[in-house]
Amino acid sequence: KQPVLEIRNLNVDYGLGGKAVHAVRDVNLTLHRGEVLGLAGESGSGKSTLAYGMTRLLAPPGVITGGDVIYHPGQAEPYDVLGLSDRGLREFRWNEVAIVFQGAMNSLNPVHRISTQLTDVLRAHQPSMSEHSRTARAREMLKLVGIAPDRMDAYPHQLSGGMRQRVMIGMALILQPQVVIMDEPTTALDVVMQRQILGQLIELRERLGFSVIFITHDLSLLVEFSDRIAIMYGGRIVEEAPAATIYRDALHPYSKGLLSSFPALRGPRRELSGIPGSPPDLAGMPPGCSFHPRCPRAFEPCSTAIPVLGRPEHLTGAGRSVACWLHPVPIPLEKN
Ligand code: SF4
Ligand code: MG
Repeated sequence: KQPVLEIRNLNVDYGLGGKAVHAVRDVNLTLHRGEVLGLAGESGSGKSTLAYGMTRLLAPPGVITGGDVIYHPGQAEPYDVLGLSDRGLREFRWNEVAIVFQGAMNSLNPVHRISTQLTDVLRAHQPSMSEHSRTARAREMLKLVGIAPDRMDAYPHQLSGGMRQRVMIGMALILQPQVVIMDEPTTALDVVMQRQILGQLIELRERLGFSVIFITHDLSLLVEFSDRIAIMYGGRIVEEAPAATIYRDALHPYSKGLLSSFPALRGPRRELSGIPGSPPDLAGMPPGCSFHPRCPRAFEPCSTAIPVLGRPEHLTGAGRSVACWLHPVPIPLEKN
């Protein structure tokens, strides 16, 4: 499988010097072509910060303090997103990588028709395109996300929340990016609508061939819609595996806790036990494994030594890694 986006040793801080808090720590993650990669964790685990960091959309005081984000355009040579000029960055966003933000559906401009808001994206990024082609493309995108042509000229308030979210997804796809990052894209919608929209997105991915990074606190959605899942806690990735493996055989106590926080979709019902306690404060991260104060399995090394993410000896499956002293890693994995 070809990589499309490779995050290497990414670190993001909020603030500088002695007062800095580490929001993303040593994250390594590869998104492959055509893949849906799910990123899970409670709020404050660093998932949104990671998404903003990799697209360089961090607002101050957020700063990237180290790492690389290598983008593979397909035809041309790979390059480091962190080294792009402002102009390069403007082209990279939307054209190559588009983001649907948390609560995006409320960011539509209330005084413009949705058709205008879609053609505006084309006007800004593909100035040589004819007006006629822009309108045709906007219509096509709306159709792809399930919005009838007669709603093209509606204003945002005339559409339901689900429809507005579809418009945002259409807008993200309109320049045919290779990667779409979705940060809690459907959290504001009811469960049935969430599933419908995500199912549709997966179908579009198969037709159009883009890759998705799908961020949510709802691990049951990820299990259903992703190929692979990475779980974050305290700014680090603590487990990564194919979605079905996480569902069947999660290794990290935090992953197990997250799984039991949501009702199972299929099969026997699980007890909704959740995870006691609350996510750590970035400014006062516990030493050792940052999950240890909440972990039911914590033992001797956990409060002092940080477990390394890698593949434990007894695991043979490809693409599996975990950072937990219950599954010590003999030699940290060389990242793919
Ligand atoms: Fe729990 Fe220790 Fe594993 Fe952390 S390293 S998840 S505290 S068992
Ligand atoms: Mg978030």
